[in-house]
Amino acid sequence: MKHLSSVHWLVTGFLALAVGPGSAQPPAAVQRPVAIVGVTVVDGTGRSPQVGATVVVREGRIVAVGPVDQVSIPADADRIEGRGRYLIAGLWDTHVHLSALGRAGLPDLVRHGITSVRDLGGDLAAVRQWRDEGERGEWLSPRIRLAGPIVENAAWLARVRGLGVPGLSRGLDERIPVETEADAIRAVDSIAGLQVEVLKIRNAPRAAVYATLVKAARARGLLVAGHQPSRAIGLAAALAAGQRSIEHIEGLDELMSLPAGQRDSLARAYAAGEVWITPTLAASFGRFVPDSVTEARVVGTSGDPDLALVTPALRDFWKAQRELKAYDAPLEAYRTMVVGGLAGVRLLRAAGVKLMAGTDLGVLTLVPGASLHEELGFLVDSLGLSPLEAIQAATVEPARYFRQADSLGTVEPGRLADLVLLGADPLADIRNVRRVELVVLRGRVVWSRGRERP
Ligand SMILES: [Zn+2]
Repeated sequence: MKHLSSVHWLVTGFLALAVGPGSAQPPAAVQRPVAIVGVTVVDGTGRSPQVGATVVVREGRIVAVGPVDQVSIPADADRIEGRGRYLIAGLWDTHVHLSALGRAGLPDLVRHGITSVRDLGGDLAAVRQWRDEGERGEWLSPRIRLAGPIVENAAWLARVRGLGVPGLSRGLDERIPVETEADAIRAVDSIAGLQVEVLKIRNAPRAAVYATLVKAARARGLLVAGHQPSRAIGLAAALAAGQRSIEHIEGLDELMSLPAGQRDSLARAYAAGEVWITPTLAASFGRFVPDSVTEARVVGTSGDPDLALVTPALRDFWKAQRELKAYDAPLEAYRTMVVGGLAGVRLLRAAGVKLMAGTDLGVLTLVPGASLHEELGFLVDSLGLSPLEAIQAATVEPARYFRQADSLGTVEPGRLADLVLLGADPLADIRNVRRVELVVLRGRVVWSRGRERP
């Protein structure tokens, strides 16, 4: 069983929702085509950037990408000046807990260029409603892909519930405890009926129960996301069972404890498999921020301008997480785990393992939207990805993970039109992903700098 040290990773998604008036998206009227003219397209396929291109969007899809003099612009199109700007596919944050944020925070994700998220657990009924509102154009929201209630090792769940930490019970009540193989089958049956695509296993019990759970989930078409299942079960078993993504670098230090030959062959097997790693570096590195700084961010006195993006629900959630700090592992032990985890993920990456960009939004003190930009910077600085590879980790890789690369994740004709226009070259400096000028979501310009409602 895992040490309680990681408890603060595990409790996102249980607070009440603060649904403010926010900025609802106007109901979809007749949708005019959009033409972005003269832009540099970084299409995400790995091709070199297309300078001076025109991109035409109609009825929710990209219909043309090509040189300005070869693409005709529909007479009724909204024409957007692209010269000196850069166009990428809409970004994903592949690890969020939206019910910690609240519906009021969804528009800010879009304003940061996030057009899709993978929600890995929280108040499912609420988030499913927000997903549907977003699809109907009633509220500005990224596309939301859902996991069911988090599956937990029953013994671990009982132990944490027994702590009696204030504010914790609600988040834990939603979780599904499993102890036996019969529990695992029942958990999968219940989740498969919930209109979700992902089964999130956080803390796995015995190896046989884990294998049964993953196998049953796959048979029902669910993608299994989870942490490194446990020290006892390990990464080789996760790959063999068919877990589709490993969340966080904590646990990847397991690789570094293996003999070199075994470590390399496991890394090669991961590279050949249908499995992605979501390192969530921004969440890990946040633990090393001095407590006084974290505290100032939690109470809103730190002066960081991005704290304006923190919804009341998220702030309350951060406050509840402070109560858990007493159960955290000592910082030096945590540092050792993170250093080992970074080494593990670098090794996997060198072998060709696919990465996804995700933040664990909900965790102290990740700011919605801005934290994904920060994560992309960490993927470059700490893991050695090129800026293009970091962008792909937030675009085409999540699309592949969801088996949707034929419809999402790149700027190519036929793809769904989720696009982000940047004011500076993200390939020159990944930090330029912060320079969001305009966002197209489901084929509509839903935000542009200086105009709340274009
Ligand atoms: Zn999480």
